[in-house]
Amino acid sequence: MPFLTIAVVIILGLLAGSFLNVVIHRGPAMWGLVDDDRRRGDFMAPRSYCPACGARIKIPHLVPVAGFLIARGRCAACGAPISLRYPAVELMGGAAALGAWLLFGPTLAAAAAAVLLWMLIALAVIDLETGYLPDALTLPLALAGLAVNGLGAAFVDGQTALIGAVAGYAVFRAIAEAFYRLRGIEGLGLGDAKLLGALGAWLGWPALPPIVFIGAVAGLIGALIMRLAGVRMTAQTPLPFGPALALAGAIMLAATGLATP
Ligand SMILES: [Zn+2]
Repeated sequence: MPFLTIAVVIILGLLAGSFLNVVIHRGPAMWGLVDDDRRRGDFMAPRSYCPACGARIKIPHLVPVAGFLIARGRCAACGAPISLRYPAVELMGGAAALGAWLLFGPTLAAAAAAVLLWMLIALAVIDLETGYLPDALTLPLALAGLAVNGLGAAFVDGQTALIGAVAGYAVFRAIAEAFYRLRGIEGLGLGDAKLLGALGAWLGWPALPPIVFIGAVAGLIGALIMRLAGVRMTAQTPLPFGPALALAGAIMLAATGLATP
């Protein structure tokens, strides 16, 4: 029953997206990267509450995407608007699960690919919102990539993954260092280097040049869109390169899936 399978995969993805929203919202405060009372709590407790008034969100309003529509995008208690980020991340979570399943079929590689995509969504949105790519996510992601490939379950062999992790981190760090020497400002963060190392661990060192290239192009397009949207940009404005790298990683994962017979 392909329809039933696809429905289950999408529902699992939407639920994962719902959990990603909790990670994105509470993680940065949990890890001490931002100081914000409205982000209190950990990944398990307390139950979801309105960041504006603190009221508990009703159970029907917690249903992915549908809850947002039922609540008409507003808190039922105080009427404060709920960020579009919630349904958007839920939809991305569902799309990630569906994409992984379509690319890799009913395999362990598909489950691993879905986890990678979900982590990339969390990292991209956290970077956009806070400017950080937390070690609490990038380091486990790199280890998971090494484990998945080292156990022979997935995308490249263990050696290609290990070289990818080291080269991704080292090369990006060298670029950031050169950038700093030339411009005298920190344009690229170490979080970006750790994310590239993690992508190397998952997709292997041969994927690194296309990831950096696609990431750079996507980053420039992103900066252009921000500029057109009226965001003031100077040479000192830090570029959130994380979302561009995450997108590049997702594209290369899809390329890996399409190349796998
Ligand atoms: Zn409220």
